[in-house]
Amino acid sequence: MKTIVVGAGGGGISSAILARKRGHEVCLIEAHENLGGCASWFKRGSFIFDAGATTLSGLKSQQPLGKLFSLMGKKPSVYPQDPGIVFHLSSGKKISYYQDFEKWMFELEKAFPSLNHRPFWKKVYKINDEAWGLLSKLSNFPFQKPEDFLGVFKLIPHTHLLPYLFISTDLMLKRYGLEHPEYLELINGILLISAQAHADQLPFLIGALGLAYPQDTYVPVGGMKGLMDFFESSCTESGIEIIKKTKISNISKHKLSSTSGEEFYGDEIILNVDHWNLPNLFEGPDKVRINQKLDEKKEAWGAFTLYFGCRSQIAELYQQIHLNHPDVKNYFISFSHPEDISRAPAGFQAVTISTHTQARDWFEMDKETYQANKKRIQNLILKDCLERFQLEDIKFLTAGTPRSFERFTHRRYGFVGGLPFLFGMNPWKLEGHMTPWKHIHKIGDTTFPGQGLVGVVAGALSLDAELKKEL
Ligand SMILES: Cc1cc2nc3c(=O)[nH]c(=O)nc-3n(C[C@H](O)[C@H](O)[C@H](O)COP(=O)(O)OP(=O)(O)OC[C@H]3O[C@@H](n4cnc5c(N)ncnc54)[C@H](O)[C@@H]3O)c2cc1C
Repeated sequence: MKTIVVGAGGGGISSAILARKRGHEVCLIEAHENLGGCASWFKRGSFIFDAGATTLSGLKSQQPLGKLFSLMGKKPSVYPQDPGIVFHLSSGKKISYYQDFEKWMFELEKAFPSLNHRPFWKKVYKINDEAWGLLSKLSNFPFQKPEDFLGVFKLIPHTHLLPYLFISTDLMLKRYGLEHPEYLELINGILLISAQAHADQLPFLIGALGLAYPQDTYVPVGGMKGLMDFFESSCTESGIEIIKKTKISNISKHKLSSTSGEEFYGDEIILNVDHWNLPNLFEGPDKVRINQKLDEKKEAWGAFTLYFGCRSQIAELYQQIHLNHPDVKNYFISFSHPEDISRAPAGFQAVTISTHTQARDWFEMDKETYQANKKRIQNLILKDCLERFQLEDIKFLTAGTPRSFERFTHRRYGFVGGLPFLFGMNPWKLEGHMTPWKHIHKIGDTTFPGQGLVGVVAGALSLDAELKKEL
């Protein structure tokens, strides 16, 4: 069996590793010169910047990355990060999300002394642990049909989780007496980066996974370059062929053609290509067939990013700053580990900042407006973080917009972060991994209803389980 995987983002890399584990000959084809997609990197002088993703989570044994590394029999070097994320609310309150439950509760009690946090957060962690347990047993998630969904009822210890698919996270907050507007600002800040939506949009089952996310945060040694180097050498050692700078432009039955005219054949094809670009890979009746499976109206967020090197020694590497400004509601700042001199010279740190933005707007602006908007947002964020963290000696300042993401990751309109699983979505009508063809499958953060590396690795594991079932 030969498997061709198109796209070496987190989803494609893990699918290639899993296909090799199934005994297949595997070829991983990537358009860019580096692996990683939204979790890739770039170099400027002696600084290595994470391009998009900066944090790693889900490393525990029952969680997706933990499982993948255990199947690989090796893991990348990481620095644990505690607090996982520090939040700066618009009122000026600083709240550190610690791993230890008591320390986290102390932070919340200090910031919101009149509220009773414990019962809600105990519930969050309970649902989070159980949801990972459930996901690890489901081999047909995302569900394609009502029978798949009803299959959960066979997993008796987990059936009590199902109602949480139909209760929104903000309703749960109300039930626990946590309706405070500033509390909601914190909750929405956490959910926006972990689940790409706010409390009123997310079912509590997903909300709990998102709220627990910062509890278990790591920084790869070497940043995303370190992680991608680890994956690349592991793939090569296990016999996976990696072909870079090759963009697949057409698929017809088992044949894939690249923009430069090369041809590849796969008994099995796994597409780590975003939702909106998939139809462009097919022609004629095939295009119609794949289109019937997709809902192109779905949109994701875009990202505005800022990168620079600076003289600093910040120990709390991940921080979310709430500005409540009409242009920038909040931004997420990531510093390279002060000891990681592979990413920045001693005494300096490499910084990546990102904020959510409406992706399409950046494509509808004329050149002048585009440049003016880019400068305005860059200056707004830069001014705030220079003052807040007293950063000095700024080097290689670069900004990125959804247009940059489209150019470097090939994702249409620079839609990133994945398609969130929103309240009211039909759990048995998710698109899932399947396509109209038995030998073609899709993965990635626009397929698995969860975002981030943890979500795309979870998606690759569930496709693998599904393919093993078919054997
Ligand atoms: C600013 C930002 C910050 C983020 N922060 C975090 C974070 O801290 N932690 C976290 O876990 N997640 C984070 N995420 C989300 C995370 O990066 C993504 O959800 C995840 O990396 C997506 O992986 P993927 O495999 O689905 O797709 P992608 O990463 O988009 O990978 C797809 C790959 O396929 C290639 N490709 C596409 N089309 C073709 C083709 N036709 N031929 C060949 N190759 C092709 C692309 O070049 C790309 O490399 C962040 C995302 C962004 C944008």
